[in-house]
Amino acid sequence: MKPKNKFQKQVVEASKTLPKLTEKQIEWGYRNCIEHIGQRTSKGIVTCTDCGHKWQGDGELISTLLGCECPNCKAKLIVKTTRKRIFEGCEYLCTITTHEGYQVLRYIMIKSVAKVGKTVKYTHSEVMQRWIAPNGKYCTFAKLRQTMGTMYYDSWIFGTPLELRTEIDVYNRILPYYYYPEQQLIPELKRTGIKKYIINQRPFDVFHALLSDSRMETLLKVGQTELFSLFLKDRSRKIDDYWASVRICIRNGYKVKDASLWCDYIGFLRYLGKDLHNAKYVCPSDLHKEHNRYMLKKAKADAQKEMEKLREKEADFAQAKGRFFGLMFSDGDITIRVLESIEAIVLEGKLMHHCVGGYYSKEDSLILSATIEGKKIETIEISISRLEVIQSRGVCNKNTEYHDRIVQLVQNNIPLIEERLAA
Ligand SMILES: [Zn+2]
Repeated sequence: MKPKNKFQKQVVEASKTLPKLTEKQIEWGYRNCIEHIGQRTSKGIVTCTDCGHKWQGDGELISTLLGCECPNCKAKLIVKTTRKRIFEGCEYLCTITTHEGYQVLRYIMIKSVAKVGKTVKYTHSEVMQRWIAPNGKYCTFAKLRQTMGTMYYDSWIFGTPLELRTEIDVYNRILPYYYYPEQQLIPELKRTGIKKYIINQRPFDVFHALLSDSRMETLLKVGQTELFSLFLKDRSRKIDDYWASVRICIRNGYKVKDASLWCDYIGFLRYLGKDLHNAKYVCPSDLHKEHNRYMLKKAKADAQKEMEKLREKEADFAQAKGRFFGLMFSDGDITIRVLESIEAIVLEGKLMHHCVGGYYSKEDSLILSATIEGKKIETIEISISRLEVIQSRGVCNKNTEYHDRIVQLVQNNIPLIEERLAA
């Protein structure tokens, strides 16, 4: 892709003078990123798949647990007792370096094919570079990937050029396990006091976050690493929503240990209109307890709101179904009545453990309740336009022994409903 803006043009220009990877770096990758296998036969002969050297090894348990060192090439070997004769390895090595004022991360894929009795063959290819400017802007150089007929998103095609590409999510998913030990940081990152390996995160994410938002730098400096990690990982959490409260924590020396729980808790406080600048709320000594207490409060407030909403709808309901109110019929044992409010329908659903509770809004439905001596038996739904029973259900949607009688009783009394319709 051709550079599209000034920033990309500058980076492409700078990339032309980026030094090649050194032999020392590649050698380090071959040594450290790939498992070196000692193939052990059942008779205890170990073959170093690095150099092909063969010798009588220790017992199986000792060799497999402790590994061993090849007496010839001194490679640290992982010993596998197997008949397998070919071992393939593939890992990423990442170097962290600077160039022309940019922070540069270089991703090298290292592959190995080791055959018992032969010298191991290594290949490597620099497949991606990420360039980050001191203001947090970044762009990515990459090789092309095989996208057809493979389940791997990182099947790089080694022969393609490493060039500027449109950003895609795949680039963010590459997670190298190995980092070259000699690392360089641009001054803007050094200043943040970031220490290697402290934060178990992708360095690219960490660098980008630190350079693009000074608040992330603050979190790191004051040791709020849990919050730092959360804002890095969970994109749905916006630092803006919590920053006022975070500052109160910092001022009070309150360290957030469970960041997602704390953020949820702050969410409850906000919902309930509590003062998010008040340390009394924001810095609870027992976060779990307060979190649960306010979660309950919120649930209650939610239920209250829900009921209020329903109450507002009662007038509409009475308007729509009022003409059927008071309708009742009985065969002497079973009594069937129209349910006359949303509240009554919701309650019916709860008591009977079925979903009639949501039916109050169904325009064409009339909901009736069948009882015997006041005890609820089944709930009936009638189609008003078709004047027939849609369903009649007992507790937990089961039919009762009265089911057929109830349906028949309703059918017999359809004329009563018709009368109301005609009125
Ligand atoms: Zn060897």
